[in-house]
Amino acid sequence: MLDIQTIRKDFPILERTVYDKPLVYLDNAATTQKPAAVVEKIRDGYYNVNANIHRGVHFLSQAATEAHEEARREVQRFVNARSPHEIIFTRGTTEAINLVASGFADALLSPGDEVIISAMEHHSNIVPWQIQAAKRDIAIMVAAVDEKGELCMDSYRRLFSGRTRLVAVTHVSNVLGTVNPVEDIINIAHSHGVPVLIDGAQSVPHTRVDVQALGADFYVFSAHKIYGPTGIGALYGKEEWLDKLPPYQGGGEMIASVSFEKTVFNELPFKFEAGTPDYIGSTAFAEALRYVERLGMDQIADYEQELLRYATERIQSLDVPVRIFGRADHKSSVLSFLTGDIHHYDMGMLLDRFGIAVRTGHHCAQPLMKALGIEGTVRASFAFYNTKEEIDVFVAGLERTVKMLTKR
Ligand code: PMP
Repeated sequence: MLDIQTIRKDFPILERTVYDKPLVYLDNAATTQKPAAVVEKIRDGYYNVNANIHRGVHFLSQAATEAHEEARREVQRFVNARSPHEIIFTRGTTEAINLVASGFADALLSPGDEVIISAMEHHSNIVPWQIQAAKRDIAIMVAAVDEKGELCMDSYRRLFSGRTRLVAVTHVSNVLGTVNPVEDIINIAHSHGVPVLIDGAQSVPHTRVDVQALGADFYVFSAHKIYGPTGIGALYGKEEWLDKLPPYQGGGEMIASVSFEKTVFNELPFKFEAGTPDYIGSTAFAEALRYVERLGMDQIADYEQELLRYATERIQSLDVPVRIFGRADHKSSVLSFLTGDIHHYDMGMLLDRFGIAVRTGHHCAQPLMKALGIEGTVRASFAFYNTKEEIDVFVAGLERTVKMLTKR
């Protein structure tokens, strides 16, 4: 059992007030708060270990290099990659998907080829493919989502053709909370000889991920959604696939040798890490992973499920019709909803005045909103530091807001 009150002390921001009300932070799917250990790691990095990494002969440079490469090994262990050089540090999920989309299109896609995505993707797993599609005349095929918010596996199966080259789908929907059956998704793709990229932005913070057990060819995620710093994330790629992709950017670090006649690219993972990397961010990222490992991913998952169940029950007790978007059997701790005919934005604004932070709008998933026939939702998303008491405050805030806006 997690001791939530003790855990909350690790997150100083949770003590603050907003408009003189205690902060109730329920926007964890957008970004998570940072434990003191992560912030301290950043401070310590800059105060005590700061020097540019790789190739430095001096003490600090070697210490910073070792810390950065140890961080890579931590990420490797966390997702159970086979080797540290299968972990590429990126700016986050978005950059990781762009890297794969760009490299894949450059090296492996021809006009008429097809990439399969799903109707529940975040814009960051739609637009990079559209950019490549426009350049190379590639078709994007979209697997449907059913009324419960689950991926329609028949629709997915039917999309495969002799021209399918890649599947790119999210593990967990940031809007619906749906946990997709990624193992099946991958097995089906592999039976057609097609590799799979999984967007793990919303899964890695909430559940144990083993990329080898899943068989994913690429798996991407962001540090800031798993209690780490902003501006850094990871791309896991199977060595055989990373080897096939050309560099994403050119510059220092990513070369073995440069002359004006010929440049030889560096080996993995450096081939994809042009320029000075965020070596302070990487160590703080690793610290965040150690933090959640200490709590235990299984305990985190169990407790967050309890919060989701409780919140789902409580909002259904409101004296107004509540539409919940995302009724999948297997859901992560995301609750998207609309109350009566109240606009999501009005609801979010008024909740904010009570110190309650939720997200409103299309959640960077406009095609999904269109499929649902709505413009946006109110989204509350829970992390292990949230409590049932906070959910009570949230539901009380909803009740007051409903009264104010419907003038009952
Ligand atoms: N995919 C999903 C499912 C997400 O929820 C997000 C962030 N909302 C992203 C991708 C993009 O992540 P980032 O902005 O950290 O690159």
